[in-house]
Amino acid sequence: MPEKNTTGEHAAPKRRLRPSIKIAILVLAVLLLGWMGARLHHWISQRGDTRVIVLVNPWNDVDNSGFSPKLRTVEGVQVDKSCVEDLNEMLAACRATGTPITLTAGYRSPEEQLSLFENEVSRQRAAGRDADTAYLLAEQRVGTPGTSEHQLGLAVDVQGTAAQEWMRENAWRYGFILRYPEGSEAVTGRSADSSHYRYVGLTVAEQIYSLDLSLEEYMGMFFTQDAEIVLDK
Ligand SMILES: [Zn+2]
Repeated sequence: MPEKNTTGEHAAPKRRLRPSIKIAILVLAVLLLGWMGARLHHWISQRGDTRVIVLVNPWNDVDNSGFSPKLRTVEGVQVDKSCVEDLNEMLAACRATGTPITLTAGYRSPEEQLSLFENEVSRQRAAGRDADTAYLLAEQRVGTPGTSEHQLGLAVDVQGTAAQEWMRENAWRYGFILRYPEGSEAVTGRSADSSHYRYVGLTVAEQIYSLDLSLEEYMGMFFTQDAEIVLDK
């Protein structure tokens, strides 16, 4: 078909170019995404925060987290060594504003968590709840053994209304987040708790605070391979 040479002359090179442009764009997009992911990881690890990015909740057990705390004592509670410096700075900064603050809980052993959980079940039973409801409430309020962040040594409970108000606005500056905010119950699997703060490091705390996310949502966005996210229950 020799006459096609003249009519097909302009169309043929275009047809050959299009797939190669598509492939080039795809390769560039993959490279860009890979580069962005690598930069984010590099940025986080540069600030020494990677080790503390651990998700523990009713669906992600402490034993599977791969985290083993190296405990140090701060004001009567034990915490992982990674958060000691920031915790001390945070307590000092809070007190510098004239706000008293007390730590009421830090690390808990599996035995302590079990005993706390059983006490809460008993308390709910004593208040007239049936066995199933008592178990469910204890699960939401205290956490079954293996599902509490206190077993990581990366969580503290703070006492005092004024201290909790100060923490709500300022804890992120020291790498801590309000772990169970109002309205996040379905995502975290736990009741709202204004006393419980979790150390995630400066970078992640700032991002979680400014984006107004739960740790589950944050992990789902940036660390999906490590986290099982249950959004509705
Ligand atoms: Zn707590």
